[in-house]
Amino acid sequence: MQLSHRITHLTGGGSDGWDVFYRARRMKAEGVPVAELTIGEHDIRTHASILAAMDASAKGGHTGYAMVPGVASLRETVAKRIEAQTGVPTTADNVLITPGGQAALFAAHAATCNSGDTALYLDPYYATYPGTIRGVGAIAKAVQTHAEDAFQPRAADIDAAAEGAVSLLINSPNNPTGVVYSRETLEGIAEVCKTRDLWLISDEVYDTQVWEGEHISPRALPGMAERTLIVGSMSKSHAMTGSRCGWIVGPEKVINHLINLATHTTYGVPGFIQDAADFALNAGAELEAEVAAPFRRRRQLAKEILAGQNTLGLVPAQGAMYLMLDVRATGMSGEEFANALLDTHHIAVMPGESFGKAAAGHIRVAMTIADEAFAQALQTLCTFAAERANTVAAQ
Ligand code: PLP
Repeated sequence: MQLSHRITHLTGGGSDGWDVFYRARRMKAEGVPVAELTIGEHDIRTHASILAAMDASAKGGHTGYAMVPGVASLRETVAKRIEAQTGVPTTADNVLITPGGQAALFAAHAATCNSGDTALYLDPYYATYPGTIRGVGAIAKAVQTHAEDAFQPRAADIDAAAEGAVSLLINSPNNPTGVVYSRETLEGIAEVCKTRDLWLISDEVYDTQVWEGEHISPRALPGMAERTLIVGSMSKSHAMTGSRCGWIVGPEKVINHLINLATHTTYGVPGFIQDAADFALNAGAELEAEVAAPFRRRRQLAKEILAGQNTLGLVPAQGAMYLMLDVRATGMSGEEFANALLDTHHIAVMPGESFGKAAAGHIRVAMTIADEAFAQALQTLCTFAAERANTVAAQ
């Protein structure tokens, strides 16, 4: 019996540069104390007040099937949030609640791509992007961004790749680079989407983690609300990664079709999780700032540590929970650097190569361990890089 091409070709095959991550996990399991600066998950857990809301809802009986599009009050809360961010009138009918941002990414591509259609995404990229596109039977086509542009995408490059494409997936604040797209960048992207008649799938799961500049959703730009699907999530903004609660916001017509898709796939999100999400979103900006605070602090610590050296280049760390560092002065690839750092100092970071071609020669450092340990690991990383660079210079 055969397995479908769609499922067997979902991932690109090969290690995809994730060897370092799995090696670090094995070392940890063997009892080696590894400083893990790898994946994007908070070191703090979901806030007690959110858990109390979840508990009250579950004990109050909200444990049966919930409404497939999402419970009415959460849909309204999300609609109000997006309207406040974008200035575009938004109602509950524009919102589908999904089991996390990942399910929303899949649904957005399912809604916009036929089998064999080309869907664009930007390199470097969040690890699941090409597989998500392939998972709906579409062809994933990467558009490179460039270190010399601080990874702000060039509209001309997207335009050059757009012939025959149906959609473009973007992510700002960006994982893995930590870059926040400027208004100019987003306006350029919007123009290409309009002239090339592309859907814009805008992954905004890091919208509450902006350290510099402002978060602009392309839904706010002229003529874009009708062709933009926003992907949002409670995972990063409220440290609710395990709760699996996110959303898509877009034109009502698309949402209506996506409700059918949800009926035939996920059958919605648990009601007590949605009630907790509703509580959390209504708790307001203060709670979001509290969840984001450790990353804001560690980014500041990192800037101070990195100011004292000149081997590693910091890609502008404007948002999200990551730092991207240029390690090319060490003469090593990102993968070589990450492996050597793990072997020598038991510090695990992600090679830039794990996120595509554009971030080769870089590493991604997740700011996801306690401040003191983070600062110490980064200091060690800097010393290690300087030693390697000196060795190269002496050769
Ligand atoms: N999008 C980006 C850019 C991410 O980094 C992640 C998780 O790391 C997700 C989407 C998926 O998040 P979730 O499914 O937990 O909402």
